[in-house]
Amino acid sequence: MKKYFWGLSLPVFLIITSFNSSKPADNPIVIVIHAGAGNMDLSHSKPETRKPVEDKLNEALELGHKVMVNGGTSTDAVEAAINVMENAGIFDAGKGAIFNSDGKVELDASIMQGKDLKAGSVAAVMTIKNPITAARAVMEKSTHVMLVARGAEDFAKAHGLEMVDNSYFYTPGAMNEWKSLKDKENQIRKSGQNFLPETNKWGTCGVVALDKYGNIAAGTSTGGVTYKKPGRVGDSPIIGAGTYADNTSCAVSCTGTGEYFIRLGVARDITNMIVYKGYSLQKAAAEALAKVKALGGEGGLIVLNKNGQFVMDFTTNAMNRGYIDQNGKKEIKIIR
Ligand code: ASP
Repeated sequence: MKKYFWGLSLPVFLIITSFNSSKPADNPIVIVIHAGAGNMDLSHSKPETRKPVEDKLNEALELGHKVMVNGGTSTDAVEAAINVMENAGIFDAGKGAIFNSDGKVELDASIMQGKDLKAGSVAAVMTIKNPITAARAVMEKSTHVMLVARGAEDFAKAHGLEMVDNSYFYTPGAMNEWKSLKDKENQIRKSGQNFLPETNKWGTCGVVALDKYGNIAAGTSTGGVTYKKPGRVGDSPIIGAGTYADNTSCAVSCTGTGEYFIRLGVARDITNMIVYKGYSLQKAAAEALAKVKALGGEGGLIVLNKNGQFVMDFTTNAMNRGYIDQNGKKEIKIIR
């Protein structure tokens, strides 16, 4: 019995040892970001006005990529890159976000990881400096997926997240826009009509990432749409609408008129088209956006799968966007 044991197990042991000594190759690392889709007056789009946006997209991309090169996960990269954009003061996320009709900033964010379908989100929060970090805390430190308003803020505070006064988020641009909309509303109300503001502000931030462990993740952070009603929640914090990630299909982050993305469950719809209809990323993205357009909405999205293939698509004339692909190639673009 003993002889048999050695006779059989030694070669097996050697084979196992030699397998272990050859380290498996790392998976590709990819990061794709957007900072909102919209219709801009292209005659006003000059290189010098685009530069600050391009510089911040570059900083976010580089940081998210570095996080993964240094061994961080796609979830770490999504959070780090979105934090850069939330702190920038020039996007509709975190500092710089648009005002609601009460003249306050109310923020939404969500995050999801493709390896285990874990997700977290916060909505209508007014004092959490980095809503994407709060969304991650909900995912990792609670048994829930979504917390809103005061409950989300209490949770964030209890978990040591940085809290700020609502005025921290104000920027002169967002404040001036609110004031002129308020004046317009007052005039229109005087004439007995309803005020329906155009929801054309853009700057929502989203990231999809693939790490060297072969896992994808997605995240989205926003201040929502122009002059929204207090308490209005868009698609960005809704898992399946503005954000979704599943290693078996893809990671998605959307931007645009959120009500349409909610009604169509756009992010989840894309994964379903890939899994159940065998669509390519390109075809699924285009079809999802065509459905949004058919209902009267507009927007864009970024999609990435675990092979490192990705798509950035939009129905508007511009979308702030960029990527670093698996060969290290980087590109940042705003207009088509
Ligand atoms: N989708 C966001 C929302 O509806 C806004 C945007 O992406 O511009 O809240």
